[in-house]
Amino acid sequence: MDAPSFDINDDHRELRDWLHTFAADVIRPAAAEYDESEKFPWDVLEEAAKAGIYSFDFFATQSFDPSGLGLPVTMEELFWGDAGIGLSIVGSALAAAGVSSAGTDEQIGEWIPPMFGTPGDLAVAAFCSSEPDAGSDVGSMRTRARYDEATDEWVINGTKTWATNGGIATIHVVTASVEPELKTRGQASFVIPPGTKGLSQGQKFAKHGIRASHTAEVVLDQVRIPGRCLLGGKEKLDARLAKARERAAAAAASEGLPAAGKEHERGANASMATFERTRPAVGAQAIGIARAAYEVALDYAKTREQFGKPIIENQAIAFALADMKTSIDASRLLVWRAAWMAAQGRRFESAEGSMSKLFAGETATKVTGQAMQILGGNGFTRDYPVERWARDAKIYTIFEGTSEIQRLVIARTISGAPIR
Ligand SMILES: Cc1cc2nc3c(=O)[nH]c(=O)nc-3n(C[C@H](O)[C@H](O)[C@H](O)COP(=O)(O)OP(=O)(O)OC[C@H]3O[C@@H](n4cnc5c(N)ncnc54)[C@H](O)[C@@H]3O)c2cc1C
Repeated sequence: MDAPSFDINDDHRELRDWLHTFAADVIRPAAAEYDESEKFPWDVLEEAAKAGIYSFDFFATQSFDPSGLGLPVTMEELFWGDAGIGLSIVGSALAAAGVSSAGTDEQIGEWIPPMFGTPGDLAVAAFCSSEPDAGSDVGSMRTRARYDEATDEWVINGTKTWATNGGIATIHVVTASVEPELKTRGQASFVIPPGTKGLSQGQKFAKHGIRASHTAEVVLDQVRIPGRCLLGGKEKLDARLAKARERAAAAAASEGLPAAGKEHERGANASMATFERTRPAVGAQAIGIARAAYEVALDYAKTREQFGKPIIENQAIAFALADMKTSIDASRLLVWRAAWMAAQGRRFESAEGSMSKLFAGETATKVTGQAMQILGGNGFTRDYPVERWARDAKIYTIFEGTSEIQRLVIARTISGAPIR
């Protein structure tokens, strides 16, 4: 029997080195300009597509790597280059994950490849779950999907917000409530095909960080889509709704509470399933930013002299760097463990996916702040990239579930208690 190993294999090493070269040569040189202009980095995506990085095949290969490590390795390197551009490159993969976690094989084959387009004719995709009044509280979603039996169409109305690639996407994956009283269990995911009438971009947000990434509202006004755009299909949805109704009725009867109030939300709906799959990969993005900042801070501390010696010879600086490196490595171990567990089909008994995203996101904000401190005045200027990385890192305690929501998921999972 082979001895257990913490080593990555040659394929992952090759993948990492290849992506690192792309990140260093193509992404990083473009980062400051896109941060300033807040424009979508189409030319970088074009380069990524030509290199074979921005493609359905590439993300499918990494997502289904049997070790689970392909995706975290990819994320860390791309986001080491730049997080705003990195998110522009991988944003479509979040929408693709929405389709692959809820869709049938036929739907996966039909909808995922056009999310990426082809070199020279690129496309991006968006996953739209959040709403103005439904951020962490996914159950209060107001977007409604109504089935029109006469035409076998779904009619969707509502406003989505904070959608990465929202409005510029060729394909939008949208979550909507089919039976509001069932809360998250009454929701479903839909593909909005290219050029569908009634979908438009609302406000585009001016952001604190990851400014190359496009974030906008998506307005859905009497959007009509064919029945086959319901991910997973109607039969499966009907069966799921029937089961949810039964459970809600049984829970209400047993405790005398309104049925909807008894629904336990964790893992109950399509968008939650997507988030569970993507959390370790999002943690890996945060590690990329943290590692970038740590490396610059380490170099700076070795060369910057004050009081006649390099500042790293002060314990205060050296210990900060020791803590930074330790937290980054600990984050990576948590992320790789969760990604490996997911690939093996193991259950997250202690919400390991949430743990990894929580720790990596908190690490990125802390480490980038420490790096700014080590660079002193230079850390506060745009002549050095560290202040940009500190701005970029902050999103990792907010999106894909805030740090508080990750703690809530972990606390509920380890205790079994209905913690609010
Ligand atoms: C740049 C960016 C990109 C995004 N991309 C996407 C995307 O592509 N698709 C998408 O669907 N969404 C996206 N989001 C939305 C993101 O996932 C939400 O912003 C996030 O889930 C938080 O929701 P909220 O902003 O409404 O905050 P709220 O839910 O209003 O939370 C506000 C504060 O209250 C805290 N809080 C809320 N409930 C509790 C509780 N029960 N216990 C303790 N604290 C609590 C939160 O942790 C937070 O600190 C994106 C957001 C941003 C900023």
